[in-house]
Amino acid sequence: SKTIDHSIGPKSLAAFDRARALIPGGVNSPARAFGAVGGSPLFIDRAQGPYIFDIDGRQFLDFIGSWGPMILGHACPEVVEAVVRAVGRGSSYGAPTEAESELAEQIIDAVPSIERVRLVNSGTEATMSAIRVARGATGRDKVIKFSGNYHGHVDSLLVAAGSAAATLGVPDSPGVTAGAGGDTIVLPYNDPQALADAFAKHDQKIAAVILEPVVGNMGLVIPTSEFLNSLRSLTEQAGTILIFDEVMTGFRLAYGGAQERFGVTPDMTTLGKIVGGGMPLAAYGGRAEIMDQVLPAGKVFQAGTLSGNPVAVAAGSTTLKILKQDSPYESLDRLGDRLAEGLAAAAADAGVPHQVQHVGSMVTLFFNPDPVMNWADADRSDRAAFGKYFWGMIGEGIYMPCSQFESLFFSRTHTEAMIDQTIDAAKKVLASF
Ligand code: PMP
Repeated sequence: SKTIDHSIGPKSLAAFDRARALIPGGVNSPARAFGAVGGSPLFIDRAQGPYIFDIDGRQFLDFIGSWGPMILGHACPEVVEAVVRAVGRGSSYGAPTEAESELAEQIIDAVPSIERVRLVNSGTEATMSAIRVARGATGRDKVIKFSGNYHGHVDSLLVAAGSAAATLGVPDSPGVTAGAGGDTIVLPYNDPQALADAFAKHDQKIAAVILEPVVGNMGLVIPTSEFLNSLRSLTEQAGTILIFDEVMTGFRLAYGGAQERFGVTPDMTTLGKIVGGGMPLAAYGGRAEIMDQVLPAGKVFQAGTLSGNPVAVAAGSTTLKILKQDSPYESLDRLGDRLAEGLAAAAADAGVPHQVQHVGSMVTLFFNPDPVMNWADADRSDRAAFGKYFWGMIGEGIYMPCSQFESLFFSRTHTEAMIDQTIDAAKKVLASF
């Protein structure tokens, strides 16, 4: 449509044409292709603080933040300095450094469930490894996951997956064998009865339950306390390992993540995004006796040439140091409330059916008249209305996630005036519906 042609500059259009001939779909990760909203992506030149700049020289207020990591804003000077200092000392050794223990200490200090931690390179590796350790530690095969939750592209978890898998219509990917998915039990989120039934049926065969303790990957969905409590008690009774996938929520909803915020402590936790300060670094950890199953302390194999990479560790460690010293969480909560209220009012004034759900600096405007508690609810949202909203906001200089089934993120560099500017843009866009 015309709107789309006018919204993306000529340099981005040309760059996408070039990339599509070289890289599948022109992108190195599917969510960023803008496919679900019927257009082509902005190609990025640089980013600074709350702003991102495309190669056509236009400036946008960024509510993606690299899909979560950039809580300090882009190109935070202390992080840049730490990275430059580290890379000058050699970019990888494949040998231990003291800086890895420093970051491990920071993670253990922050996250209630973690007594020992392994550093890996992506959230996918973190969840893949956590599942393997849970199976190794319990000697059991089955894993429970929830539809619409996304845990990276691990074969056994790429079943009823959220995020781009849901957005682009492939919740169950070709290439995942019946064998790889066969031990995965998929349940609806926020349904304690379905969980109790699964435990009644499979009893002592369930190695792990993995979930997003606040879901970002089907749009923002909040767990009920009844759901969280039954997760904790059923897994405890069955000797099943409860894994919180806090790749998105860790250091985002509180310094100690969703588990600190909700006061429920799992057995294992996966982290990514913020913990790497914008570099490829993630982590998994848990109680000492579980993590001591990992080679060479134990026998569960998990390894990585670039794991604990000194440049990535410098970015992560500096980011956590700033978050601890200069806690932004109260201010992020206040701005999140303001944004959520403002977006809801804008939609209500325009007579657009909506549901704004948020925790802290994670917010989703669902084009859905009813509360969204699980994937079936999320799936009833009006995708066409979302697309119209997305392109309208791009036209107003606001860069939002390009799918109804994602949460937006903002950083400590977003000011109250910028939040109000975003609400005003939404008023304008929604009023034109
Ligand atoms: N788990 C969750 C909750 C995520 O949101 C993501 C990525 N968005 C992943 C795992 C996978 O992380 P990565 O993309 O770093 O592999």
